[in-house]
Amino acid sequence: MNDLTRHATLAQSDLTDAQLRAFWMPFTANRQFKAQPRLLARAEGMFYYTPEGRQILDGTAGLWCVNAGHGRKPIVDAIARQAAELDFAPTFQMGHPLAFQLAERLLQILPRDFAQVFFTNSGSESVDTALKIALAYHRARGEGHRTRLIGRERGYHGVGFGGISVGGIAANRKVFGAMLPGVDHLPHTHDLQHNAFSRGQPKWGAHLADELERLLALHDPSTVAAVIVEPVAGSTGVLIPPDGYLQRLREITAKHGILLIFDEVITGFGRLGKPFATQYFGVTPDLITVAKGINSGTVPMGAVFARQGIYDAFMQGPERMIELFHGYTYSAHPLACAAALATQDLYRDEGLLERASELASHWEDGLHSLRDCRNVIDLRNIGLVGAVELAPRPDAPGARAYDALVKAFFDESLLIRVTADIIAVSPPLIVSRAQIDEIFGKLRRVLQAID
Ligand code: PLP
Repeated sequence: MNDLTRHATLAQSDLTDAQLRAFWMPFTANRQFKAQPRLLARAEGMFYYTPEGRQILDGTAGLWCVNAGHGRKPIVDAIARQAAELDFAPTFQMGHPLAFQLAERLLQILPRDFAQVFFTNSGSESVDTALKIALAYHRARGEGHRTRLIGRERGYHGVGFGGISVGGIAANRKVFGAMLPGVDHLPHTHDLQHNAFSRGQPKWGAHLADELERLLALHDPSTVAAVIVEPVAGSTGVLIPPDGYLQRLREITAKHGILLIFDEVITGFGRLGKPFATQYFGVTPDLITVAKGINSGTVPMGAVFARQGIYDAFMQGPERMIELFHGYTYSAHPLACAAALATQDLYRDEGLLERASELASHWEDGLHSLRDCRNVIDLRNIGLVGAVELAPRPDAPGARAYDALVKAFFDESLLIRVTADIIAVSPPLIVSRAQIDEIFGKLRRVLQAID
């Protein structure tokens, strides 16, 4: 029995083949995974535990979401209390107090420009909601001719048809038909020749925002409803916006009456050392989409934040009329709201929304210490996010980073995330300096061990 088979046997000890077959896993090479499962059975603080009890250092905050760390008692208690008190209540034509309290609470950590919160259950739903709000907003103001949407190459906006249409990751689009009409894409900003090994924001690349003017000239600005970007692209492998780039996008969209949407599903709730990327970069969009960190990944929840005036544009016509025909059964689910309120308390009491800024330079130094490791062609970082880009093997793109993921999990007991040949790390915001050193020490050993 070789090492990998032994690990596989241990890890799947409690699962039958029938059970392994039954779960169609999302965004996973199912056959590969099921031949060698990586199971997580329990979590606490900075760690996961496998079914056999092996401790795994969480280098990715789960899936960029467990910002407060795992198993935090105030959140766990709030969810338990809420389940006993009010398990579910509709928010269509009814309401429960926590939904309103949470909405107002979230506005307190946003720039004053934001005035309303629409609740969803995921980042994908937040994106589709924001796109629909943008289209309906223009129509409500008599500008129904604004029907086009502009995203960006390599953008990830979830998996709804709206999200994959404006998204720019080819694999997420190519087998799903024609998608939404009237969508175009900005170029992405990643160019190893100009911005490899940048620390923080690259100096090169702001001019790429001017491509928006070119697209607007092509389609006519009056036909465009919204531009959506991730302030820092996460899922595609951490692309940091060049200095001045987001400011330029804001100027151009404002000039043409086009809404700017920041998809902050990853950057929201402290990842960059401010509550949101809008504050970090000093650029205010019209709509912000969030999910994940809203309740530290404990109960599915997302939200869209709307700037002053957007909601008001809908408040016309007879008052008995529904103003926006959109919503989800579980919008503002009581358990998600209770978890989010407890999470916001924790963020405030422990200073977690600012913590990434205290750790950022230690994090940056740790990441860039990997520069001499073999196959590393780029390192990039911002806040508590880092990426290691590896040269792809000529015959097997993605295989090198996947080997790193397997090695990290089984041999170094470290959870990392990989996309193509890029390794991303983004730990819970409670990470200590010693644990940051441990993450990069483990990564170094992984990189030295894979060919
Ligand atoms: N938007 C961004 C920027 C994301 O990073 C993600 C998920 O990683 C999503 C949307 C989709 O979120 P969800 O998986 O909760 O639907």
